[in-house]
Amino acid sequence: MLRFSIVILLLLLGFSAQSQTITILIDPGHGGSDPGHESPNAAHKPEKELNLIIAKKFGTYLTEKLSNVTVLYTRTDDSFPSLDERVEMANSKNVDYFISIHCNGSPNKNIHGTESHVHSMTSRKSVKLAKEFEKEFGGKAGRKSRGIKDTDDREHTLQVLKFTEMTSVLVECGFVTNEAEANYLNSTYGQDILASALFRGMRTFLQEEHPSIQFTKKTTTTASSTESASGTTTETTYTVQIMSSKDPIETTATAFKKLDKTVVREKIAETGYKYRYVVGSFSTKEAAETYKDEVRQKGFPDAIVITKKKT
Ligand SMILES: [Zn+2]
Repeated sequence: MLRFSIVILLLLLGFSAQSQTITILIDPGHGGSDPGHESPNAAHKPEKELNLIIAKKFGTYLTEKLSNVTVLYTRTDDSFPSLDERVEMANSKNVDYFISIHCNGSPNKNIHGTESHVHSMTSRKSVKLAKEFEKEFGGKAGRKSRGIKDTDDREHTLQVLKFTEMTSVLVECGFVTNEAEANYLNSTYGQDILASALFRGMRTFLQEEHPSIQFTKKTTTTASSTESASGTTTETTYTVQIMSSKDPIETTATAFKKLDKTVVREKIAETGYKYRYVVGSFSTKEAAETYKDEVRQKGFPDAIVITKKKT
């Protein structure tokens, strides 16, 4: 009887130790012979490729920035695991969270924005996670959030959400059929912003759902008793985008001379408005907003503040 109790105790200990690590399965939608949605612009990548790029960036942020998180993928190349295989992988690998990454399409070229899909609004955790994603998309990432959708909204079920036994969300990162959004989705800049929005949403959710787990990576191995309470470090700066253009404009152009700071041209897409022009680097949004107002006065009425991640 004593030996039996010890075995139970060890099992419990083993179980609780194991549960301190969160496993996230990221599912880049489509792949292989299934391209997913396609942009009418042949220069644009099909949905399957965009999904994979965003999924990998999202996963990389999770593994690089958080501790006690294991990231798995349903595919890491241009293969096509069947929907059954994706579900089976989620249900057999002790996965805590299943996140499927997609891009949307519509016959209406004007429709754009992000969506986070859940199987049912009664799944508290899935809805909460979906909310965090949409909050980040519509907030800091500056996308148009189309909100959370469930089976009733879609009028059909999604296999990967219905049959996965854990908290699961399917994210639509934008419409490849809307020209501006397709350009954004095809730009490294857009992909980075979307992936970091997913990362921040996931991090907020994890910290709230699992308060006993230390997700913040310790930067030093010594003095662990005096780690900061917030555990967050400044990782963003702000700059002012004064304009964008289809063809490159020299930053020495006369129009830019009115500004007291150096104008930097950045390539953000392969087609359409490929270039943007930014001025200044600010550590607070307020400072950037003030400068933006100044720049608008100086003849750049479309100036906006943009957030940059420090790399
Ligand atoms: Zn899709």
